[in-house]
Amino acid sequence: MIFHVLTIFPEFFEGPFAHGVVKRGKDAGLLDIRIHNLREWTSDRHKTVDDRPFGGGEGMVLKPEPLFAAVESIWPERQPERKVVLLSASGRSFDQAVANSYTREAELLLICGRYEGVDERVAEHLADDEISIGNYVLSGGELAAAVVIDTVARLIPGVLGNETSAAFDSFQDTGHGEGLLDCPHWTRPAEFRGWKVPEVLLNGNHEEIRRFRKKLAREKTARWRPDLLV
Ligand code: SAH
Repeated sequence: MIFHVLTIFPEFFEGPFAHGVVKRGKDAGLLDIRIHNLREWTSDRHKTVDDRPFGGGEGMVLKPEPLFAAVESIWPERQPERKVVLLSASGRSFDQAVANSYTREAELLLICGRYEGVDERVAEHLADDEISIGNYVLSGGELAAAVVIDTVARLIPGVLGNETSAAFDSFQDTGHGEGLLDCPHWTRPAEFRGWKVPEVLLNGNHEEIRRFRKKLAREKTARWRPDLLV
């Protein structure tokens, strides 16, 4: 799968994909991440990407021309399995189900907004999807793009070492999780500062362990995310 990112801060992405699972996925050729500098598609001497909002008010807005020019040059032809995603606080909510649906695309192109946001014609006529990573406002779409790419990348078959391990994660309704939170995990030592690991996890009875984990996952979900139980 190929991820494209359109940004005015390409250096931002030197860190987020250089480690762990995502880096290994890249090295194994299972995914590719291509960072594009929006300023390459400006035509004036100052490489202007923003302008004042019509109607007045605070801040600046990303202009439509460089964004349309960039997408049309990265993808001279739009195809059904290539989706343009605009990162936006006012988009639909990103979650594990959206991430799973993105794994069916061949390529994603993520547009990072800045300032007060992006000219609305980009949302209306260039983007296939408008995505928010949560009910809070970031200063730019770069962190949001990194969140989306990281989440989708680990769902691509082969990227996680063990093919099934994503199925048991929180929110995944594909495995035994049924969309609940993950169950708690423990490792050695079996006793630490007097706190003991639950006995049942040590007894080797896999069916009992499975039922116990399910119970803990339900309890944890009821405590922190009762909205997931309905
Ligand atoms: N005025 C806008 C916020 C602009 S923040 C509003 O109130 O909705 C600047 C950019 O940061 C946005 O264009 C978007 O690309 C990104 N951004 C901010 N919050 C985000 C969020 N929760 N999810 C995804 N992108 C976000």
